[in-house]
Amino acid sequence: MAKSHKPSLIEKIAESIGLIPNLHKEKSGLASLTEPGHLVRFPPPEKWDDWQEYEAKGWSKKEKKSYRIVPTTCFNCESACGMLAYIDKQDNSVRKFEGNPFHPASRGRNCAKGPATINQINDPDRILYPLKRSGKRGEGNWERVSWDSVLEDIAVRIRKALLEKRNNEVVYHVGRPGHEGYMDRVLRAWGVDGHNSHTNVCSSGARFGYNLWHGYDRPSPDHANAKFILLISAHLESGHYFNPHAQRIIEGMMSGAKLAVMDPRLSNTASMADFWMPSYPGSEAAVLLAMAKIILEENLYDRRFVEDWVNWKEYLKKEFSGEAVSFENFIRKLIEVYKEYTPEYAEKESGVKAEMIISIAGEIGKAGSRFASHNWRAAGSGNLGGWAVARCLHFLNVLTGSVGTEGGTSPNGWNKFKPAFFDNPPAQKFWNELHFPKEYPLAFFEMSFLLPHFLKDGRGKLDTYFTRVFNPVWTYPDGFSWIEALTDESKMGMHIALTPTWNETAYFADYVLPMGLASERHDINSYETHGGVWIAFRQPVLREVARKEGRKFTHTYEVNPGEVWEEDEFWIELSWRIDPDGSLGIKKHFLSPYRENEKITVDEYYQFIFENTKGLKEKAATEGLTALDYMRKYGAFEVEKSSYSKHLEKLSEQELRDSQLDPDSGTISKNGKAIGVHVNGKSVTGFPTLSRKQEFFSQTMMDWKWPEYTIPTYIKSHVHPEKLNPENGEYPLIPTFRLPVLIHSRSANAKWLVEIANRNPVWMHNLDARKFGLKNGDLVRITTDIGYFVDKVWISESIKPGIIACSHHIGRWRRQQDQGNQFGSQTVEIKNLGDGKWKMKKIANVKPFKSSDKDSGRIFWSDGGVHQNITFPVHPDPISGMHCWHQKVKVERAHPEDSYGDIIVDTRKSFAVYKEWLAMTRPAPGPDGLRRPMWFARALRPADETYYV
Ligand code: SF4
Repeated sequence: MAKSHKPSLIEKIAESIGLIPNLHKEKSGLASLTEPGHLVRFPPPEKWDDWQEYEAKGWSKKEKKSYRIVPTTCFNCESACGMLAYIDKQDNSVRKFEGNPFHPASRGRNCAKGPATINQINDPDRILYPLKRSGKRGEGNWERVSWDSVLEDIAVRIRKALLEKRNNEVVYHVGRPGHEGYMDRVLRAWGVDGHNSHTNVCSSGARFGYNLWHGYDRPSPDHANAKFILLISAHLESGHYFNPHAQRIIEGMMSGAKLAVMDPRLSNTASMADFWMPSYPGSEAAVLLAMAKIILEENLYDRRFVEDWVNWKEYLKKEFSGEAVSFENFIRKLIEVYKEYTPEYAEKESGVKAEMIISIAGEIGKAGSRFASHNWRAAGSGNLGGWAVARCLHFLNVLTGSVGTEGGTSPNGWNKFKPAFFDNPPAQKFWNELHFPKEYPLAFFEMSFLLPHFLKDGRGKLDTYFTRVFNPVWTYPDGFSWIEALTDESKMGMHIALTPTWNETAYFADYVLPMGLASERHDINSYETHGGVWIAFRQPVLREVARKEGRKFTHTYEVNPGEVWEEDEFWIELSWRIDPDGSLGIKKHFLSPYRENEKITVDEYYQFIFENTKGLKEKAATEGLTALDYMRKYGAFEVEKSSYSKHLEKLSEQELRDSQLDPDSGTISKNGKAIGVHVNGKSVTGFPTLSRKQEFFSQTMMDWKWPEYTIPTYIKSHVHPEKLNPENGEYPLIPTFRLPVLIHSRSANAKWLVEIANRNPVWMHNLDARKFGLKNGDLVRITTDIGYFVDKVWISESIKPGIIACSHHIGRWRRQQDQGNQFGSQTVEIKNLGDGKWKMKKIANVKPFKSSDKDSGRIFWSDGGVHQNITFPVHPDPISGMHCWHQKVKVERAHPEDSYGDIIVDTRKSFAVYKEWLAMTRPAPGPDGLRRPMWFARALRPADETYYV
């Protein structure tokens, strides 16, 4: 339903005299909302060392407070927005966080989660000292230990594993990374293929779809300059680049852009859009292909871009041999191949009205190179074949020639800064099949959520397992299988949880090691938030204060609260202890680049990176600063203001020397690798694919046994209506959306955030509620393939009929013997009933408690929600490896014996579902005995020779 854009007379007058923004003129010289450094509302940086303002809590007294202001970046989602920490000069305590106007992505703004960092710092339950378990793993007994003993114990263990060539038994499993390349260097120095990530429960579905097109795995939409924006599903609420994208979408809309959102739920974003397409989950690709067909038939495509930059010749030759290899024939073939994707067919699959699909396709065609689009989790992560949604979405960008343009959608790599390191250890010589097993040769990231099943299946074991800001027991599907794995010491030798907060996985650790929050740690950040390139510096602000005051310290834990440390220094110290005499070849990678044979310091590590950041040294010199001091002072630097059309960068003479040109395709190769492409008489870099072009046709899919998916296709989801029986009360459950004020598992200690959102009822349309005779708040039992959960129902017209949804991020728990997160977690009793059967029962609500924070006694909410993910089996997509989150569930009224929050799971059934999905794979080897296409990246890419089986 498009909004009317015809202004009323009053609007016209108000707009003309500037009373309200002019939403009705074509994009023109509307001033950008902010320019770093030009905002008067922020304290000027020359006063940051002694900033005075009135004490907010004592306004009537006009009590003046002196602060030192130190920049850092937020750690509560990946965006890494800039923040300014206000440090009370009287007692050096951090009092509050506000936005940093010098951060090019966030431009002085934060979402609710940024300032709530202060809650996390002052959390009365936070972990302040290193803890070691006493008693059995998981029993909940802990003793305080020293960092020295922790380092020694772990180092001895890892050294032994490396000496015995058990390199694959040392694993680092990361939840929130928040740094650029630091751990890759550490793991390579150790020689272990030990990087495991959370990405296959997060974004790898969409990444896979984008990668097939152009070798980059994420979109970077230039929302602020777009004319039409299309978001697939709950983009903003799904959390990616939440604040930087939100402010640019608004900016784009204020300049006249229209916004369309495809989502079965009326999300916050959809409610502000010009078009809401409430699609059936998993049908998105059908809608997108119908739009593509309209754009083709109505001649709305960008002929120049498509002709020059799509590998259409390869497609025609491979799929239509003997036919004319002409562009006209290609377009004819496309229209023919996609003929079934009529708007009416798309309406039948999705429920989105055909007229709306036609209307949006026309808008996209009109926007041309200024069409910005995005798919992150949601559809890409919910469905079997969800990766095809991103592939079909990008098809629209290709057709409209909006790839890499101003107002279009760039590859992420063009807007993300890559730091230069002082030392680059060689690629590891191991391939860890617990991460990349043969069954999933195309898996875009590690098959991390199958780890408990792989261990149960006898595929290996772990000696030393680090979890870092990572909570699979709670965030992953099938959490009871994780508990089984974590408590089995024959499979997990030692589990070390590096975490700033207590979490459900840390309860099953041997060591719980407190790591810093946003203002207590070093990292660098750079993300594809808009059409520029930037780098930001997360720094421990109290360390910076100590340095400025000339106080002596060696490690960050000496200035942080308690003995909270940071990973950067921890890894340096641990690496030296693993290899004290240098005989393992590890120590040499942790030596200072500035002082011979001395241990590198964290300051030197960042000094090197900033000195080698394009333009930073020069900019710093204009203020008489070193590059490091500039970043300490401002916290961020804009490397490139805008960066478009990088595929047109010319290859240098040196690059072209000894290269070969394929006259037919235009591909330029050197030493057997494609390095560029000849287009319109110029030798340019193109895209990092085999053809160096946008690959409509994927030879890779053909070679790796998926010939049915060589071109953008619609794949029917595992929750497609054909697979459901409504007579039996079966519904698709959407569990992927989140509430924008919460963080996966790090906000149950943030009182302001939990106060705003503290329950996750099941969303149900009125028509469905009527069928069951349900009223708001009634209990429902939701049965999955491995168990069930009991939740309350929330009846609303904000969800498409025939679908139910339940938000992620709520339903946090602790057992009676556990600590932490009292603002947001309820107390549960967990019973292992034997033979894989588990039961969880709520025994106490969230309730007020006594602590150093008086607000803890004022908690008025009691709910805490329900942990739905633990009742989900694993659903690994056989191609992308993504966990397909949506569930086919049976909905019924709660049984008489059910209570709110009850959970029952059978892990033997979980194992059976894992096997069922495993059987859908088409395992390696591929061509030439490869485990994986050589051109597919890996987060921590091992040596090329390990790619062969
Ligand atoms: S979007 Fe919010 S949570 Fe994410 S980095 Fe920015 S302020 Fe923090």
